[in-house]
Amino acid sequence: MRPDPNPMTAARRIAHIDMDAFFASCELSQYPELRGLPMVVGGRGEHAPRLRADGTHAFSTLAEYSGRGVLTTATYEARALGVHSGMPTMKAARLAPHAVLLPVNFELYRRYSRLFKDAVRTVAARIEDVGIDEVYADVSELDGDAATVATRLRRAVHEATGLTCSVGIAPNKLLAKLSSDLNKPDGATILVEADVPTRVWPLPARRINGIGPKAAARLAELGIETIGELAARDAAELVARFGRAYGSWLHQAAHGVDARELVTHSEPVSISRETTFEHDLHAVRDRAALGAAFSALCERVAADLQRKGYVGRTVGVKLRFDDFTTVTRDTTLAAPVADAAGIRRAAGQCLKRIDLSRRLRLLGVRVSKLERADGAAPWRQAEFGFDPE
Ligand SMILES: [Mg+2]
Repeated sequence: MRPDPNPMTAARRIAHIDMDAFFASCELSQYPELRGLPMVVGGRGEHAPRLRADGTHAFSTLAEYSGRGVLTTATYEARALGVHSGMPTMKAARLAPHAVLLPVNFELYRRYSRLFKDAVRTVAARIEDVGIDEVYADVSELDGDAATVATRLRRAVHEATGLTCSVGIAPNKLLAKLSSDLNKPDGATILVEADVPTRVWPLPARRINGIGPKAAARLAELGIETIGELAARDAAELVARFGRAYGSWLHQAAHGVDARELVTHSEPVSISRETTFEHDLHAVRDRAALGAAFSALCERVAADLQRKGYVGRTVGVKLRFDDFTTVTRDTTLAAPVADAAGIRRAAGQCLKRIDLSRRLRLLGVRVSKLERADGAAPWRQAEFGFDPE
């Protein structure tokens, strides 16, 4: 017998709204002349477009890049040349030297992210924020059929941002997320429980959010490639192979079952900032530069804490040396801190416990064991997914 796909309420209707190629789309809205060209995001400020006297922009290309960064995003035209997000920028430069290079502009992406989420809120009051470019919305109570609701959502987002999104509407979060991906870009997919065998089961198992590359490889070893093949296995077999929690989740997911509620509040577990140096720094010979970078990191962490309304009890540092070894140390304080001086004092104590004879590539500062500055209890770990698709 198939489990009930929606045990909470039979009439539940959840939308997943996912911006299309989000970072690239934000940049193209600023520089429409780049449409259709291979373009990547991953440069520094020096790679910002320069305005020429005739009003056009002069862009940097990948060939001009040197350094240790990785690409944040790549347009479809750039991907056709073999580059992709997460690839070292120097490697991408060898594959696509003429691709346009833009600096990362998180301020721009955050601005569009806010516009997008506010637009969704004008349609549906209850939303779960799952990342910079995606949200779930509970649309159970809205008038109209699911297709009408999807159109309203897409129109609201487009009017607010000028950008396109893809929408999936289904009885639960699992199916909504899966369906927003079925008609990308600028599309909508409506799934109902009865569609699971015909529209979900033919899909590869890895299309389920929660089946990563490792799990997909183990499923393939068992002869399971599609969601339908997974659904055909006994729950007991999956539990025997994957353990009780994941095995029974796999069984339920393959049948389109997901009782999770929308999480409309979320709290971070920690707040951290880190910086990779352009050139490796030595604790003694580059003392001034390192000290300035350290103070700046503590100030940024303090500003993040204060803006978000937290104080933290544990302060830690992360160092990566020129041989790529990484070391962390932390210390827990008697009273929580949120100010830059307090964070720097505690982080400085952590640094004293580390052998600093090697040169440093990276330095990070983290504050954890967070509490609300106003005394309210922390709630749950936030999911900060970055899905630039
Ligand atoms: Mg997306």
